[in-house]
Amino acid sequence: MPIGVNCNGYTKAYHQGFYVSKTREPNITLNLQDISIAALKVVKRLSEDGFEAYLVGGCVRDLLLGKKPKDFDVATNATPQEIHKLFRNSRIIGRRFQIVHVRFGREVIEVATFRGQHNPKESSDAGHILRDNVFGSFKEDSFRRDFTVNALYYDASSETVLDPTGLGLPDLEAGRLQLIGDPAQRFKEDPVRMLRAVRFMVKLDFLISPALAADIKNSADLLGQIPPARLFEETLKLFMNGQALATYEALKAYHLMSRLFPTLATEAEPARLISAALASTDARVKQGKPVTPAFLFAAFLWQSFITHRNRLTESKAHAPADAAHGAAELAFFGQQSIVSIPKRFSIPAREIWLLQDRLHQRRGKRPFKLLDNKRFRAAYDFLLLRRDSGEAIDAVCDWWTVFQSADPDTQISMTQAGPKKKRKPKTPGP
Ligand code: ATP
Ligand code: MG
Repeated sequence: MPIGVNCNGYTKAYHQGFYVSKTREPNITLNLQDISIAALKVVKRLSEDGFEAYLVGGCVRDLLLGKKPKDFDVATNATPQEIHKLFRNSRIIGRRFQIVHVRFGREVIEVATFRGQHNPKESSDAGHILRDNVFGSFKEDSFRRDFTVNALYYDASSETVLDPTGLGLPDLEAGRLQLIGDPAQRFKEDPVRMLRAVRFMVKLDFLISPALAADIKNSADLLGQIPPARLFEETLKLFMNGQALATYEALKAYHLMSRLFPTLATEAEPARLISAALASTDARVKQGKPVTPAFLFAAFLWQSFITHRNRLTESKAHAPADAAHGAAELAFFGQQSIVSIPKRFSIPAREIWLLQDRLHQRRGKRPFKLLDNKRFRAAYDFLLLRRDSGEAIDAVCDWWTVFQSADPDTQISMTQAGPKKKRKPKTPGP
């Protein structure tokens, strides 16, 4: 029997013996106005047809914490076909475990049938879940979710939050992130849960127990089993949410960052550039400005690019421009088998790298051409990051800062008065 807690009647409890987040005050009220009308329509229609239907997961968690949910998920005992029949504006998606997307204008509500415990026979030898496509009961559905605070259900008809594990609400109030079941086992089933742990810790400002922290570090290698396309999706969730810098620090602390970007484990001094790139991405997200993952990938792989380029240049088999192209190719090639970065991001990232050298050419027509390049802005921003992370390139940064907003006459004079090539000192004759 699930434990029901009336939203307004919930009282503080369950503090003893647990870790309490320092920065967050207990705050368990659910603001009904923040619930998506579309999501409410979906659960109402399903219940009217005699099905069980709840809001579930991150949306309930975030509502209880007074945060605005990113999206709304619904769990029900109706099958995908039954759901699809009820909503004209719906589409069944997925092959293994089908879910239904119900569309209301730009909003999509994801409706999933209760999922059951997977059959251990359908795990790999390492315990990794291969097939996860069994329908189940409400209770089973809650126990196969990842964290206790993600296994909370909102029943709109009684305005009640259901906490089938009995731990979700107390954990939420204590600011504690805890896996349902044995962490090592749950990480084996799906290693992406480690990345989710870090993401939620940062996003919610929750704490994990020392034992869970140790389990993550011990299981970090399992990330190698995850298909690169899925890790790419997770990487976006980790770094495009406005808390990229804090997430990066946490990923490093739990030994996960080097599993996603292995070259970072061996590079000497890339951390400052990466931190600067992440901080600037976070600032842009907060200001509502557009951000592109290409910029971050350019930062993550910059040192790898430089190392390859220096090696290719030193080998003297390549002209400098070819060495740069080859190095860009190699830097991405090494990465694709772990986190596959689609061309729409890897190509702009390469362009940012290749423009770095061109930014040093400040005479004649070249700077004007560069200003017109669609990647100029990103390349210039990247140049500033390199300076901020300690490279001695102040002069060229200042030059471009002035040049791009100068009047045409000044611009022309700047390109004529650019840095003169140093003459080689004449060696004294015999
Ligand atoms: P957010 O949307 O803020 O990133 P979320 O908790 O809603 O957080 P989703 O990826 O939208 O995350 O997943 C919705 C719910 O599905 C989760 O709250 C959780 O209950 C369940 N879930 C998602 N991924 C997993 C997983 N890998 N293992 C177990 N349960 C999961
Ligand atoms: Mg969600």
